[in-house]
Amino acid sequence: MPTVGVLAIQGDFHEHKEALLRLGVNSREIRVRSHLSGIDGLIIPGGESTTIVQLIDKFQLRDTLIDEVNSGLPVWGTCAGMIVLANRLTESRPSPLNLMDIEVSRNAFGRQIHSFELDIDIAGVQGPPFPAIFIRAPIVKNCGAMVKILASIENGFPVAVRQGHILATSFHPELTNDDRIHRLFMDIVEGSG
Ligand code: GLN
Repeated sequence: MPTVGVLAIQGDFHEHKEALLRLGVNSREIRVRSHLSGIDGLIIPGGESTTIVQLIDKFQLRDTLIDEVNSGLPVWGTCAGMIVLANRLTESRPSPLNLMDIEVSRNAFGRQIHSFELDIDIAGVQGPPFPAIFIRAPIVKNCGAMVKILASIENGFPVAVRQGHILATSFHPELTNDDRIHRLFMDIVEGSG
């Protein structure tokens, strides 16, 4: 039975744990380096990317996180988590972990539309469109050849991307009761996705 770590230093990690619980998956809150040993996957939740990155550095998690993911640990970032995984941002802060070949623009939807919900089709997710909740959401401005775009919004910008064992979504599946993207991530963790 796999154990999925949820980075629990800021943001909506509790909601991810609830979704994993609904799927019958063991989860573990990750706060210090030793918590990372023996996990089979990692979720970086939504929240505030500047704070998350600041605390990653304060708790000296950066190098271990990078090593683990580069050695094949499956990871999924939602919203702020996507920003944390990027290799470059259109803004000067924070300094992301440089794990995924994507350029991300934070708060890409401007002040007028802080939050909205949109039903979107996602490659690899069967059934009706997914109810995607965007909250001060980032978008992917550019991505490298190794990155597969799973979903885009009307203006053509990707909002769900995958690079092998690394998954990132601009929106918050953990804030819905629709667990299909958590299931997709578990397929990656279990090596069948
Ligand atoms: N825009 C936020 C940031 O820059 C992310 C928002 C979110 O995770 N809902 O960190």
